[in-house]
Parts: sequence; structure tokens; C-alpha cells
Amino acid sequence: MTTDFDVIVVGVGAMGAATCWSLARRGQRVLGLDQFDIPNTRGSSNGYSRVTRTAYYEHADYVPLLQRASALWSELEADSGEKIHHRVGGLYLGPVDGDIVGGSLRSARTHGLPHDLLDRAELARAYPQFKVPDDWVGLLEPQAGLLLPELAISAFVTGALRAGAEIHGHEEVISWQAGAAEVSVTTMRGTYRADRLVFTGGAWSTRLVRDLGVELVVTRQVVGWVWPKDPAPFQLGRLPIWMIDRLDGSLYYGFPMMTLGPGLKLALHRPMQAVDPDRVERGVLPGDEDTFRDCLRRFLVGADGPLLAQRTCLYTHSPDGHFILDRHPRHERVLVGAGFSGHGFKFATVVGEALADLASTGKTPLPIGFLGLGRFLQS
Ligand SMILES: Cc1cc2nc3c(=O)[nH]c(=O)nc-3n(C[C@H](O)[C@H](O)[C@H](O)COP(=O)(O)OP(=O)(O)OC[C@H]3O[C@@H](n4cnc5c(N)ncnc54)[C@H](O)[C@@H]3O)c2cc1C
Repeated sequence: MTTDFDVIVVGVGAMGAATCWSLARRGQRVLGLDQFDIPNTRGSSNGYSRVTRTAYYEHADYVPLLQRASALWSELEADSGEKIHHRVGGLYLGPVDGDIVGGSLRSARTHGLPHDLLDRAELARAYPQFKVPDDWVGLLEPQAGLLLPELAISAFVTGALRAGAEIHGHEEVISWQAGAAEVSVTTMRGTYRADRLVFTGGAWSTRLVRDLGVELVVTRQVVGWVWPKDPAPFQLGRLPIWMIDRLDGSLYYGFPMMTLGPGLKLALHRPMQAVDPDRVERGVLPGDEDTFRDCLRRFLVGADGPLLAQRTCLYTHSPDGHFILDRHPRHERVLVGAGFSGHGFKFATVVGEALADLASTGKTPLPIGFLGLGRFLQS
């Protein structure tokens, strides 16, 4: 019996859209389903910009994946004719042996990545926008930059549709089944059958795949846009993307000013309040602005101007903060990409390729072993 599709992808956000694109380009019959608009502002991929870096302080094993991701972002740009990846450089500020600068420096040296370590005087000359303690340094990574998430998802989906995929918005998957010969998903509109099923449900992953055996925690994250008192030094072209070590395992980060999302965007990268993705307050709550205003007062005094906008976005944390990219432990035909823990967007292209490899050939040459479910299930 033939199935309707080779692969059904549930969740067409960053990872699902990239998976649909990768599958459709290799001639697979793909169905992508999302419960909301494509793209939407209710998941984890909204807010006009995302940081991308290669000298990864989080785990050195991510670096080869980032290098492949970068090549694939260029392919997406060529496929769509859109500029999605702005290589504006990245500036990381903190103690030289701290988590952020020290970790990124280790990663850059281990993998031979271009970088420049600026002492306090060099930093003050090159980037007077920042006021940091005298014993801090700056690590400049020229390959870092920013990605445009809504445009990227639109480009993945357009490319996938043009290559023959079928993609439906506003069609929630309410149940699924995986058997020895095929999989099926049921939505309000009907039931679809396929050879393989890929779950990329973001903050709804636990609801979609209840028997994964891993707890994923969703948190409400706040991002702000302000209009600097003196905007000139904060423009795209004058400012790279930046991160500031808070010395407690968390950091502030931000972007140069762009017209799309007017003003200077910044945020605190630290797990905030745990929430249910269907009940989360997406409006403004008391205290939200404090999460990033303190950064302006302490480190970016010239940008400490009025608030223009604020957004809520969701992180989905795995127990160790690293991604889950694997086959379902009990269903051979089911694959899962989840738990991107607030740092996944820059990997979307390569996550899509890895999931598409697994769904279409059963294996991948990409080094994703460290992201397998086995690391939780064995302990
Ligand atoms: C404020 C913020 C800042 C961030 N900054 C960065 C950054 O600078 N750099 C970086 O690399 N990463 C960053 N991240 C992380 C990154 O954006 C996420 O890891 C990534 O977007 C996750 O993509 P996803 O596809 O898993 O989730 P999403 O893009 O949210 O997609 C999941 C999709 O699944 C759909 N879905 C769920 N359940 C169902 C169902 N039953 N039926 C149909 N559809 C369903 C949802 O509607 C949704 O569209 C940030 C995240 C946030 C929130």
C-alpha cells in the first residue's frame, strides 16, 4: 500500500520549515503542518533578528554543525534571492577567563576560527559605545552576525513549496500513530499517512510527543527595543552583534539597529518564568522592562533611551541545555528535533538537513551523536 507522503513534518517553525525545504529539494513528497500562521509570533522564532556565532562557548561539538549551517544559510539565500544572513561580526565582553569570552576563545582556538582579542584600551577605542570594567576584554568574531528569522522561515517554506512540498497553516495535529509499515497523523481536517514522521513542535513538543522520556521546560522570555539617546553609533555597520557576561552563567545580548523592528534590540539570556505555551501572557508584565533596562544603565549608557517595543518569545529547555535531535526511542519511523534551549535558530538549516537525512535515508553524516536522546535515557 502506498502512503500519501514520504514524510510528514509537524510544526513549521524554524526547524520544521528547514526540514521541509531540505526534504523537498531532494525530491521527497513532504507534508508540513502548523497549528498557527506560517511564520507566527506565538512560538520561538519571532522578533526580526537572531544572533549567529561560530566560536561556540556552549559546547565545542557544535562548531562543525555551525560551519555546515553557515554554508546552508548561503544556499537558502541563493535559492530565495533574499538577504537573510548579515555577517556584521560579534563582540563578546567579559573577563578573559569567564564563561563567555574564555569559552568562545577556547572554541575559536580549538577550531582555528578567525578572532581578535581586544584589551581594555583597544576595546575603548574601537567600541566606545560600551562601558565595561577595567579588567574586562573584548573578543571579536568576524564570522558572527545576525539572521532574519521571519524571512528565513518564509524562504524555507517558499523554497519547499516551489520544490513540490505541501504545507498547511492553521491545521493542528491532534493525534498520531506509528506502526511497523507507516505513520499517520490526524488533524481537524483529516488523516494523512506517510512513511516517516518528523516532530518539530517547539514549545509544544512535550504535548505532541508525550512518551519521549525527557522533561522539556518552556519559559517566557522578554525582548525589548529602545531608541538610543544618540542613535548614530548603534547603527548596522557601526555595531556588531554583542554579548555581555553577567558573571552568573547568564548574559545580555543585542543587535545593531535595523529598520525592521526599529530601535536597538536587546535581551537577557537566562531562563525566565516557566509557562504553559497555550496560557502564557504575551503582553507586557510588570518587571519585564527591568530584565534588559539594567544592561543599558550599566554598559550602554548612550543607548539608554525610551522603550519602543517589547515581545514575548518562548525557550524550550532540555535538561542539559543541549538540543535533542534523534529517532524516537520506541518508534523507528518517528524523528524528533526539540529542546533548542534558547540557542537553536542559527542551526535551523543544519537541523533541517540532519532530520531530512534521517527521514529519507535512516542515517546522517552530520556529527549529531552528542545530541541523541541516549544521554538522558542511560542516566
Ligand atoms: C527571545 C528569543 C531569542 C532567541 N535568540 C536566539 C539567537 O539569538 N540565536 C539563536 O540561535 N537562537 C535564538 N533563540 C532560539 C531559537 O529562536 C529557537 O531555538 C528556535 O526558533 C526554535 O525553533 P522551533 O522550530 O523549535 O520552534 P518554533 O519556531 O516555535 O516552531 C514550532 C512550531 O510548531 C508548531 N506546532 C506545535 N504543535 C503543533 C501541532 N500540534 N500541530 C501543528 N503545529 C504545531 C507551532 O505552531 C510552531 O509554529 C531565541 C529564542 C527566543 C525565544
